[in-house]
Amino acid sequence: MSRKTHEKSVLLAKTYAPVGRCIYCGSSEWSTKQSRKLGDEHIIPEGLGGRLVLPEASCSKCETITSKIELEWLRSGFYTARVQKELGKKKARPPRFLRLQVQRNGRTAWESVPLEKYPAIVVTLLFDKPEILSGCSPVEKVLSGGVAMGILPTFGRLLKPYLDQGAVTFSPPRSTATSEYLGRMLAKIAHSYAVAELGIDGFTPFLTNIILGADTGHLSHYVGGTREIPLASNNVYEIELTTVESAAPHSYLIVTIRLLSDVQGMPEYCVVVGEYCGNAKNHQNNFGTNTQTIKTDF
Ligand SMILES: [Zn+2]
Repeated sequence: MSRKTHEKSVLLAKTYAPVGRCIYCGSSEWSTKQSRKLGDEHIIPEGLGGRLVLPEASCSKCETITSKIELEWLRSGFYTARVQKELGKKKARPPRFLRLQVQRNGRTAWESVPLEKYPAIVVTLLFDKPEILSGCSPVEKVLSGGVAMGILPTFGRLLKPYLDQGAVTFSPPRSTATSEYLGRMLAKIAHSYAVAELGIDGFTPFLTNIILGADTGHLSHYVGGTREIPLASNNVYEIELTTVESAAPHSYLIVTIRLLSDVQGMPEYCVVVGEYCGNAKNHQNNFGTNTQTIKTDF
């Protein structure tokens, strides 16, 4: 069976200046056991098409934690879409089939569906705006959100043959892919992007303990989004750093993130990464926007 060819544009890659310190714990060593340079940080996970690299930015211990956070959602809610869109490292043998739960004549069974025929969706979460932006005091609680579904353009056409025969069930992300992991992944993306744009001493960070898992009770204070879903764009992701006036003496630094923003239905996230002590007016409240474009003919 021949595979449909995907026409991809060349992804823009950007490598920032090396940091030389772990951007999460401050260590200048990879590990106490092994002498080597600190690890490079992919700001947006490679598995979501990220090509923004912050060199020498993570120690071994923190890299283990951040990789685990990312994998939870990359292997669940984002999995089928990113495999079908061929995002991420080129594996020697990418999966050729994906599993779909199909009901026929009252019986439910898993079916292996060839990749090019799989009606892919993205399952993710929708959050309210970070509570710090409403001037609330930090309160310990679970980050809660609604479910958002991203629909690939081919979805309706590929789903129809199954609907003609019966019904299809889409499994929710695995139970370990929690709102906490999504929130911490967004915090990691936002924090590393702010360090890349402003330098590790360029702001007072709010999120390192949250990313490392030492303080997950305050995620909803700093991590959130908008309930209104923006229209899909041509970019595989969008990330932007801005400031907003705050009640505190300094401005808050905000990173807005859209993942798989070329998929209809994907929400916009908003992360308050820290306090900015410099003169934001010199930057016209906008430090940098990085988007990457990927064209597909799905
Ligand atoms: Zn570290």
